[in-house]
Amino acid sequence: MTNTPPQPASFSQKVLHWYDQFGRKDLPWQKDINPYRVWVSEIMLQQTQVKTVIPYFQRFMDTFPTVEALAKAEEDQVLHLWTGLGYYARARNLHKTANIVYSQMQGKFPSEVEDLCTLPGIGKSTAGAIRSIAFQQHASILDGNVKRVLARYRAIDGWPGQSGTLKQLWQVAEQLTPVERVADYSQAMMDLGATLCTRSSPSCTSCPLQNNCQAFAQGEQTRYPGKKPRKALPVKSTTFLMVSAGNGDIWLERRPGTGIWGGLWCFPELNADTSASDWCIDMLGLTPHSSTLWPSFRHTFSHYHLDIQPIQLNLATTPETVMEAQQQLWYNMRQPPEIGLAAPVASLLEKLAQPSPKMDN
Ligand code: SF4
Repeated sequence: MTNTPPQPASFSQKVLHWYDQFGRKDLPWQKDINPYRVWVSEIMLQQTQVKTVIPYFQRFMDTFPTVEALAKAEEDQVLHLWTGLGYYARARNLHKTANIVYSQMQGKFPSEVEDLCTLPGIGKSTAGAIRSIAFQQHASILDGNVKRVLARYRAIDGWPGQSGTLKQLWQVAEQLTPVERVADYSQAMMDLGATLCTRSSPSCTSCPLQNNCQAFAQGEQTRYPGKKPRKALPVKSTTFLMVSAGNGDIWLERRPGTGIWGGLWCFPELNADTSASDWCIDMLGLTPHSSTLWPSFRHTFSHYHLDIQPIQLNLATTPETVMEAQQQLWYNMRQPPEIGLAAPVASLLEKLAQPSPKMDN
């Protein structure tokens, strides 16, 4: 007769048992745990994969090791470190929250979910992660990974963006969260969703929840969670003017604080009723000596597609333009300043820096 070790009985025991053997325990935010590091990692991990987040998190912590350092930073510096990570409202909210925590809360994050939720950019799940992981106090989480696991485990129909479905998922999340080892449980659930119960090909044979998983029993794993009802995204278009001065510097403008790419630096956009050459004369007092139409490409936001037509304009000299402070600048291509750039702008600047730019869209 063989001695089989006792098998965990409850949902949380199974999850924790699996985590002890297979969970990831060496991610950068799992070291030197404190509310600040957990908060930054949770915000970065929203809509973004772990492997993408790791270098961003490390650079961010090297530059802003404390909430005080982040609060005292310029918003441009924060946006610069966020360039390429997308959803820039997250970075602006991080900066705002750091300021509130530093100046109104003596630099200490609150530990109650309700208090955390009053801070910009912190929702109930992020608050639950901070409370459970950093303060080791009882709280549930329900990020995208956990929603997927629970929707499948209980075969909950509907898109989690709908309030009825979300409410059901929160009820299940709260019911299943254990009292003991809540920090490990939060990490374990995120991990299980990210590594086993993946979106398109869950590894059910390795999953500790397989025996009681209703989606598995139905053979319908990918039916849950329900998909967002599809609407065709509208298409908008714009023209980017990539104006290059005689010394190679590129003209950039800062976008308004709200709206797409809020607060980031971007190429000027051309109005339909102005020509590129007129724009140069009006804004910079010079006629470009050459212009090149680059291939257009599409950038997709969650709510629309943006078709972008870049036009490169070369000036013979560098104009003596009077710039509006903090709103316009000549971007030095040889020594790029640390500013936040919209993602398509960053990639076009990279192409401009190449000897003969090639588009690969
Ligand atoms: S059994 Fe499969 S579908 Fe169910 S929770 Fe595990 S990995 Fe997900």
